[in-house]
Amino acid sequence: MPIVYLGMGSNLGLREEQLKRAIKELGSLPHTEVLDLSSLYETEPVGVKDQPWFLNLVSVLRTAIPPQELLFRLKKIESQMGRGKGGRWGPRIIDLDILLYDDLVFSSPRLVIPHPRMHQRSFVLLPLTEMAPQWRHPILGKGIWQLAEGLSRGEVVRWRGKLYA
Ligand code: AMP
Repeated sequence: MPIVYLGMGSNLGLREEQLKRAIKELGSLPHTEVLDLSSLYETEPVGVKDQPWFLNLVSVLRTAIPPQELLFRLKKIESQMGRGKGGRWGPRIIDLDILLYDDLVFSSPRLVIPHPRMHQRSFVLLPLTEMAPQWRHPILGKGIWQLAEGLSRGEVVRWRGKLYA
């Protein structure tokens, strides 16, 4: 079954609790198992600065759900958890992004894999160095460390240990 890496984030309310609930929902999807979780990273917001800091992590799933259906299911979890339309850069109870889906390279108006902005975000690349240290970006041809080091002047990212200590 395909292995999928998801980027997860929350900056509203009880952030750890929102992440835990989302992880539980992911584990309840059909033919899906949550295999692993990265450490938590507390991160300065990108874009709109006047909002609480995010807690981010990367989860690793094994799932039989095809990519477009998985995106649909992630959106459903986000809306069930009460996420409104706050705009791309606004605060959010939960944000779930498909970063990688096996070795797939895919682009449609609604879904791009690998995630189109992942290589610009320390809060994605740092947890991904824990989970997929050997990964190379199939389009940019760069390894994960090379991408992460290229972002040394980006947003502040603080390591915050494990969600389930
Ligand atoms: P968001 O950052 O959650 O506000 O995502 C905005 C939109 O990005 C979604 O409605 C998706 O259609 C689109 N999108 C494109 N590629 C991806 C991806 N790999 N994972 C999640 N959303 C994606």
